[in-house]
Amino acid sequence: MVLLLLNYLISVLFTNGPPRLTVPYTTFIQQVNADNVKDVTAQGNSIQGDFKSSVTYGSASGAAFQTERPVFAQDNLEALLQQHNVPITATPPGGQSALLTLLISFGPALLLIGGFLYLSRRMQTAGPGGILGAFGQSRAKLYTPDSGPKTTFADVAGIDEAKQDLAQVVDFLKTPEKYQRLGAQIPHGILLVGPPGTGKTLLARAVAGEASRPFFSLSASEFVEAIVGVGASRVRDLFAKAKEAAPSIIFIDELDAIGRSRASSTTFGANDEREQTLNQILTEMDGFTPNQNVVVLAATNRPEVLDPALLRPGRFDRRVTVSPPDRAGREAILKIHTRNLRLAPDVNLGEIAGATAGFVGADLRNIANEAALLAAQKGEDLVTQADFDEAIERSVLGLRRPIVLGPDEKRLIAYHESGHALMGLLVAGADPVKKLTIVPRGLSLGSTYSQPIDDRYNYPESYLRGRITLALGGRAAEEVAYGAVTTGAESDLQQVNQIARSMVARFGMSPKLGPLNLIQPGDGAVAQHFSEETSRLLDEEVRRIVDECHRDSVRILTENRDRLDRLAEAVLKKDTLDQDEIYAAAGISPPASFHPTIAPPLPGNGSSRDRDLAKDEVGSEIHR
Ligand code: ADP
Ligand code: MG
Ligand code: ZN
Repeated sequence: MVLLLLNYLISVLFTNGPPRLTVPYTTFIQQVNADNVKDVTAQGNSIQGDFKSSVTYGSASGAAFQTERPVFAQDNLEALLQQHNVPITATPPGGQSALLTLLISFGPALLLIGGFLYLSRRMQTAGPGGILGAFGQSRAKLYTPDSGPKTTFADVAGIDEAKQDLAQVVDFLKTPEKYQRLGAQIPHGILLVGPPGTGKTLLARAVAGEASRPFFSLSASEFVEAIVGVGASRVRDLFAKAKEAAPSIIFIDELDAIGRSRASSTTFGANDEREQTLNQILTEMDGFTPNQNVVVLAATNRPEVLDPALLRPGRFDRRVTVSPPDRAGREAILKIHTRNLRLAPDVNLGEIAGATAGFVGADLRNIANEAALLAAQKGEDLVTQADFDEAIERSVLGLRRPIVLGPDEKRLIAYHESGHALMGLLVAGADPVKKLTIVPRGLSLGSTYSQPIDDRYNYPESYLRGRITLALGGRAAEEVAYGAVTTGAESDLQQVNQIARSMVARFGMSPKLGPLNLIQPGDGAVAQHFSEETSRLLDEEVRRIVDECHRDSVRILTENRDRLDRLAEAVLKKDTLDQDEIYAAAGISPPASFHPTIAPPLPGNGSSRDRDLAKDEVGSEIHR
């Protein structure tokens, strides 16, 4: 009984549907030659697959078939299948013994699922399709032309190139005849590629809205479920529905969740399911005939991990890049998201766009909303520029923290931050200092911002040393002004250590160690083993660089003690100083390349390859 049940289960779970039509091998070959075979899966000499249209053999007929290839067959089946464009999937051979292994390893689990299925079948024998049918159905969300408010191209800004690329698709969906009349083929598969929050999902919806056609949207992670075979049947169902509603759009969001390269994936277990789902997508896309007016859009922010099979001709062979917006683009996006806000006359969207380099559409939407929330909280009638400034700062730094500091503590922090700022002003080649504040925010009690003049891909040694000197400036200021140091410089020292280690072990900037690349970017993990001697040298060299920079910063601050005092007093009085005020208080004239805006650090998707160096444009923080 148990075995029978298991057998039944295996046939249900793994063939996923009614039993397959068993056909002789010769019939199978005939069907291949007649171009009626959609796909095949081979396990040893057992072949399973689907016919494009049903075939009758004996008293039964069906599209799902299985056959047995005679061991003595001398044909070149692979070549034949390829010649007829039949996708082939192979599962590891093993036949009977594989089944046995399967039973032994998955037996208990299957028994549980089996019991569950058996019971539910018994309880609702009349139910259509039973529980498996419900599992297998696509959970795709359907947006018909008249369901809810439409998204159109007017809701999308700042990514004009991508918009233009998709305008053609819209035109095709609206008037397919125009294209078919000339025999033109619109690409079936279009891949939207871009960092998170740039508006890929939005763009896909806008295509549907513009074309006024049904839009089947499914997030790829929804495909990947625990029960083998469900993902694949969901894909089948999704495509069937879309074909029925054609001209229509299928949108697969986060394609990388299933489309990950089969070679590179390492997660065990979930693979089988993912792979079957992926294969089914490939099969469905290959199965399109030229006059099936279904456009498949997919989105990913990790195109490099996609299985190459997805990108072959006839599949996702058209790529539309969605890039983070430039300044004008950011302004246009801000316009969209402030449409419904009551803005004060002083709000300057161009200025906000200038101060938000690196922000993507989703960030800008959040800033507009945050500004409105702040204005409402303060009981204002209109959203002001100050609200926007605060919203930007919040998004960069985390929330303002209500901390009351004692006057002594405040003074110490003022000196610490002034030390950083002064280094930025006085060390040659340092990034210009944009802002100095002793208002506690997030984890930090005070901050100094400096902004790199442009995106740097190359860091000269002097620049890196400058950064170390700047990071040490806070601690040095405490030494110079108080003759002692506090625990506040911890995060500064982490930054210092990281830069110095990179210089020695990554960039080969130590004459003693020579041009060696010993560690990898990121967490500083050791890339390869090196000797104790090397490791000792590495530590020594790091220490030497840090000591030299520390001596520099103490010297500079001692020589400029009056400037340090004046800067600290100024920030104590005003809590926050902008760039003008910093230079004025220090009595230094600003450099030629002077940007009056406060530029926030680039969010995580910056393109710099030295992320660990580029990410903290915030010169310093004091942690408690
Ligand atoms: P992605 O799919 O690329 O991660 P989304 O389309 O989900 O990004 O973007 C999230 C939200 O951010 C959108 O619903 C929209 O409100 C806003 N947004 C993102 N990009 C843009 C843009 N280019 N124009 C207007 N709004 C945008
Ligand atoms: Mg998205
Ligand atoms: Zn500091």
